[in-house]
Parts: sequence; C-alpha cells; structure tokens
Amino acid sequence: MTMARPFEYIDGALHVENVPLASLAERFGTPLYVYSRGALETAYRAYAKACEGRRASIHVAVKANSNLAVLNVFARAGAGFDIVSGGELARALKAGASADRIVFSGVGKTAGEMRVALEAGVKCFNVESIPELDRLNAVAAELGKRAPVSLRVNPDVDPKTHPYISTGLKSNKFGVAFEEARETYRAAARMSHLAIVGIDCHIGSQITEISPYLDALDKVLGLVEQIEADGVTIHHVDVGGGLGIRYDDETPPEIGELVKAVLDRIAERGHGHREVLFEPGRSLVGNAGVLLTRVEYLKPGSVKHFAIVDAAMNDLARPAMYEAYHAIDAVKPRDGAATTYDVVGPVCESGDWLGRDRALALEPGDLLAIRSAGAYGFTMSSNYNTRARAAEVIVDGKTVHVARERETLEQLLANERILPA
Ligand SMILES: *Cc1c(COP(=O)(O)O)cnc(C)c1O
Repeated sequence: MTMARPFEYIDGALHVENVPLASLAERFGTPLYVYSRGALETAYRAYAKACEGRRASIHVAVKANSNLAVLNVFARAGAGFDIVSGGELARALKAGASADRIVFSGVGKTAGEMRVALEAGVKCFNVESIPELDRLNAVAAELGKRAPVSLRVNPDVDPKTHPYISTGLKSNKFGVAFEEARETYRAAARMSHLAIVGIDCHIGSQITEISPYLDALDKVLGLVEQIEADGVTIHHVDVGGGLGIRYDDETPPEIGELVKAVLDRIAERGHGHREVLFEPGRSLVGNAGVLLTRVEYLKPGSVKHFAIVDAAMNDLARPAMYEAYHAIDAVKPRDGAATTYDVVGPVCESGDWLGRDRALALEPGDLLAIRSAGAYGFTMSSNYNTRARAAEVIVDGKTVHVARERETLEQLLANERILPA
C-alpha cells in the first residue's frame, strides 16, 4: 500500500483529519469532494525523500487532480508539473508553478498551445510524432526560439493494467514506435529550431508492479545509447507516472520503493549522470480524497437492491468508464443487518453506477464516502444531465478550506444563447 488511509473513524464517525465528514456535508452539501492536505503532502514527501541526493525531480501530473489549491500545495512543496493542454499550463502557472519546471505532454498539441508554452518557457515538450516535431519546429521558428524537446517513445511493454489505461503497447495511440525512435531522433536533430534535451515514456496507469517500469527502462536506456552514438546528447530520462494505489486489495509497491528501483537501475546501467524525471498523478492524490454523497432512496428489487445516491457518473466517471472499483463506506455505520446494494446515481444511464454488490446497512438520508476519489475524480466530471459540478474542499487538521465552490445553474447555463426571434 502506497499510503495509509487518511480517512479514519473516530467514535463511529468517519473523519478527514480532525473534521467529521458529516459536518462538511451539512455545511457544503453533497455531492462533495473532500481532500486531506496532510495526505497530499505525505505522498509528495515520499517521492521527494526517495529523490533526495539524486538528480531527480517530480512533475505532478495535473490531469489527475487539477484544482488550483491542490496544485498549489504541491508547488509550495517544490514540485514541477506535467501538463497535457494549454488549459493545464494556465492552471499550473496560476497555482504558482515556475514554467521551467513544467513538461508538456500529450498526443495532440495545437500550434496555439505550443506558442503559449514556448513563450512561457516550459522545460520540455514531450513530442509524440514527426508531424508534431515539424509543427513545433515551425512555431519555434516563428517566435525566434528553440523548443526543448524529448520524444515520448513507446517501449511496447505490458503494464498489466486495464486496457484503457495502458499506454505503452504498440496498439496504443501514444508515443513514437520503439523501432522508429532512433530515426525520429535523427530527424529532430536536423530541425533548426528544436533542442533535444531528453527522452520519455509513460507506460500506463494504476501499475501495481515494479517490473514493467524496469523492462521499459532497460529498453529506453538501450535506445539512449544508440541516440548518443548518433551524436545527440540526452540530458534527462523521464520515466512517466503510473504508479498504482490501493482501491480494494491491490498491493502496489511503496512510492519510495519504486523510485529507488528506478534510480538504482539507471545508475547500475551507467546512466546515473542523467537527470531523472517522474510524472506521478494517481499515487499523489488518489487516496487523499473521497467523494461524499447522500442516499436519496432505497429501492428494493427482485434481483437487485439499489441505493440511489446524489452523486453520479458525471461526478465520478471511473466506474462507468473503466468498471473501476471504489470502496464505499457509511460515514456513520449503523448497527444491524447489511443488505447488498448497487450504489447508483440519478443519471439516466444504466452505466451510472458507483459500486456494485456492496453490503451496507442504510437508511435514506445516510451519508456515504466513496473512497480513493482524489485522482481522476473531479477532473473527469461533466455536466451530463445538466448537473452542476460538485464543490471541493481541502481539510488541514481542523481547518476547512473551500478549494472550489459548488457550480451554480446560472454558471452552467451562462455560455448558451437562444436563437434570435
Ligand atoms: C496521465 C499521465 C501521467 C500520470 O499518470 P498516473 O497514472 O496518474 O500517475 C503521467 N505522465 C503522462 C504523460 C500522463 O499522460
């Protein structure tokens, strides 16, 4: 397990740090995302500590949780960031990141996004194809700059995770095919407005073993040797993110264990002089958050019993999208016999479920905590069914900070225009 759960029962009531979750539901309503500042910082420190004394840096993957207050907690702790859009660049900068600690990933960067990122002075563009190199070269020429680039190579290893979140296989849209990488570096080296600075890979997400990382690393380091034989210097090796967390009974390696294994392998293979970048997302924020929801109705059925709650797939898409498991616990567990429920939302889709076959003793009005919702929770939320997006709060000891106000219907409708009469 990468991190102790920061959400504990005290006198029969689930708390976040020193605050009862029920009090947050009263104050801010539900559905509500609740994060623990301590948990965010503990996870970050685990990475930072394992990197101490090494030329290694941590670039928080913004897409896992892009709330400004969350990003700011990491920026204050000294993090760099990994972004995948111009929007995320704006967020990271607003949260206090310095541009020269931002790496720009993503398979479909627009010329406009490249321009803004070049002007801001990002550390590196993680480029995924020759057409993207061409475009970046042209944009940099326009601005009279040289764009720092790294190629995202696809090492074709199986991260042994869900097919939708594995990204390092040949069949994925991501990265430059391994066999073409050396030639692509040669092409990049010929482009006058690019400066090659590194190499990167990101093989997937929710990875619960170390071996896929080391397999990918071996392939990438072999490639680095070939590229340098061609006369191109690789300053940094970016090993991506992807470390898994415990949702149910998974046993991912500890953060420090993974970082050490990676850094040791790089050193053993004679690459210890290079800077190493990590791009963690889920493992920093996943278990630092819960989604708090209230039971609206209990609906018994002949085949299944349903607990219909006020959170839905628009708030937390992972179950509908990946059949992901999230533990669900009563905020104030009741004595008495449990019933097996499917915990579902009010959205008009059969895919709108949050948990299946959960044994819970419930009454309407009870509060539930959907665990491990800090990563790819709010950031994947939508307005489907014209549902305003949830509020987000960060708890720090006894202090509660509203990190995002609940969206109003007025805000939700503000950009729409009726046809003229
Ligand atoms: C999503 C992503 C990450 C973070 O992945 P996690 O599984 O959340 O750690 C890192 N790097 C890149 C390029 C990504 O796309």
